[in-house]
Amino acid sequence: TVTTDLVLSWLRTVDERVREHADELTRLDSAIGDGDHGSNLHRGFVAVTAALTRSSPSAPGEALTLAGRTLISTVGGASGPLYGSALRAAGKTLDGVEPMPGELLQALTAGLEAVRKLGGAVPGDKTMVDAFTPAVEAFAAALRAGSGLPAASAAAADAAEKGARSTIPLTARKGRASYLGERSQGHEDPGAVSTALVFRALADAAA
Ligand code: ADP
Ligand code: MG
Ligand code: MG
Repeated sequence: TVTTDLVLSWLRTVDERVREHADELTRLDSAIGDGDHGSNLHRGFVAVTAALTRSSPSAPGEALTLAGRTLISTVGGASGPLYGSALRAAGKTLDGVEPMPGELLQALTAGLEAVRKLGGAVPGDKTMVDAFTPAVEAFAAALRAGSGLPAASAAAADAAEKGARSTIPLTARKGRASYLGERSQGHEDPGAVSTALVFRALADAAA
């Protein structure tokens, strides 16, 4: 089952990974954006860790909802409202103290829907949606094939990383990178890379 400890450990791991990869995310965003993706997420997840420590949530959904609200209020860039809405939607979907992996799938699906609704991006637009969509699909396929949470999360992380790499040749159609038109080609989308970090953190927390 999906315990509160697992979700807390997932979010703490995201904070760690974002810290470790902040320079890389900023470098990617400097190439096709405004160079703040690493610092945006770093500031956001430091605040998430602080908020979780302060309020020690007692259910997985509560932890995700608080994390989402915190990102929305602390990150000014596009990624704050997008990740924030995703986590908040996921948290609101996740009921009870120990939901089953199938309920986590529903929560991740709701998170992806929130991003797509707020940002209007579809797969192929060179955004975080290009990592998020295959990750949710791989998670679903793994559960259907009888995998448990650790294997499904690992499959999702692999798919997210592959999805992030698939953004390299694409032309950006959403966000700041879209201002560059075809000059956005040849660069990996920073938000897709950070989405892969989020799913890898889930896989590591669930392992
Ligand atoms: P900003 O672009 O405001 O500086 P960030 O640099 O933190 O914000 O985040 C940029 C990332 O946000 C992009 O790499 C992309 O993945 C994602 N993004 C931007 N706009 C959208 C959108 N409309 N839909 C989905 N993702 C988006
Ligand atoms: Mg930016
Ligand atoms: Mg910015």
